[in-house]
Amino acid sequence: MIDTPHIHLGSLLRSSSDAHAEGELDHLTYEQGGSEQTLRFARPAPYEVDVNPLGGGEMYLQGRFEPTLILECARCLRDVEVPLDLKLGTLLRYEPSVDAPYLEEAETGEEVLVFGDPDLDLSAYLAETALLAAPLSVLHAPDCKGLCQVCGHDLNEGPCEHSAQVPVEEIDDELGTPEGSAHARQNPFTALRDLKLPED
Ligand SMILES: [Zn+2]
Ligand SMILES: [Zn+2]
Repeated sequence: MIDTPHIHLGSLLRSSSDAHAEGELDHLTYEQGGSEQTLRFARPAPYEVDVNPLGGGEMYLQGRFEPTLILECARCLRDVEVPLDLKLGTLLRYEPSVDAPYLEEAETGEEVLVFGDPDLDLSAYLAETALLAAPLSVLHAPDCKGLCQVCGHDLNEGPCEHSAQVPVEEIDDELGTPEGSAHARQNPFTALRDLKLPED
């Protein structure tokens, strides 16, 4: 298991040979807005990258990254596994003065990964690519009941003492009409069942 994905581009920069790297990651640590972030994976995430020189300090990276992200259910916050199969493709530009690699948009609108260390750390690039491809919000199940807004109880595990306080209309909208609820009893045809008809 490799902690940080690197590709060594020293000999590519010296002699224009191709470079290749592959491995598996169980998480990615990267920096965003000055703070360290961690992207967790449910299982080892394989990646494979090839870099080909284009001349003039530019090169092209292509490859594949297949992480299974662990995201939080938007309603109950339990872990949800989100498998991604990502095709990688980006221009690279070598600028010796650059500290940490960063993505910028070229005049052509294409993304360029600018880096200064020939031992290129792909952490931020892979994390950003995965996050861009990930859904903005996920549910662990389409009918997740969420958490009680009063006590935080996971309503998927059953009601809590506050459940009765939730207005019926709200339950209706989110969950539909549960079997045997007041709505079923209000059904006029259900009422007919209790009617005793005189026998002929
Ligand atoms: Zn949920
Ligand atoms: Zn509650």
